[in-house]
Amino acid sequence: MLRGQPRWPLAAASIQRSTIQQTTMALVYDTVFPPEPAHVAKPAARPLPDTLLPHVPPLLACKQCNGAGHNLSKGFTCEDGKRYPSRWEKCYGCDGRGWFHAPDLRVLADAIKGRKPGTLRSKRPDDPRAYYVWRLARFHGGKDVCLPMGAEMEVGSDPYRDILDEMAQAVAKHLFGSGNVGRARWQQAMYGSHEFSDLPATIDGPVYDAHKPLEEMLETV
Ligand SMILES: [Zn+2]
Repeated sequence: MLRGQPRWPLAAASIQRSTIQQTTMALVYDTVFPPEPAHVAKPAARPLPDTLLPHVPPLLACKQCNGAGHNLSKGFTCEDGKRYPSRWEKCYGCDGRGWFHAPDLRVLADAIKGRKPGTLRSKRPDDPRAYYVWRLARFHGGKDVCLPMGAEMEVGSDPYRDILDEMAQAVAKHLFGSGNVGRARWQQAMYGSHEFSDLPATIDGPVYDAHKPLEEMLETV
């Protein structure tokens, strides 16, 4: 979603639908906006964790607000005169912080491991990054091949998301023997075949196991 677009795509879609149905209902978007508040201060970069390669930047701007800490919610006027004024809102992608520090993969590895060696914990971690790595490792390793929508939303504005996904694939390969089971199953379902050669002999087991958190059940419908 680009800055300045309506915050909730679903709401925008339903407004558009009613515009089409009633043809008389029109929205006029604001062209003049309140002055933008000052950007949040850029924090000092921390030393890069030694688990990352030196070319990784230690600090990056939020992908949603680009370091501002806020986003413009563009207001509009309905044809009946009802006003929804423009306003600057705290960025929900970074909770107003504007910037992300590079992840420490060792800390994340500790946060996702189970009590027994060589296992993932059964309960989801609370920290969004740890949850993402845990959930994507379960996806890539074939423990839960539902598309990880909840986890994608939790780190959607994190500029280090690709690194977290790489880590999840490596974790899956290490613990489950392959980091490609989730993608292979979706390719198989969509195209009838897949492109991977490092899969277990049988990949079409259950779609998810008993450790799937309740709040992820929407992913199964
Ligand atoms: Zn942000």
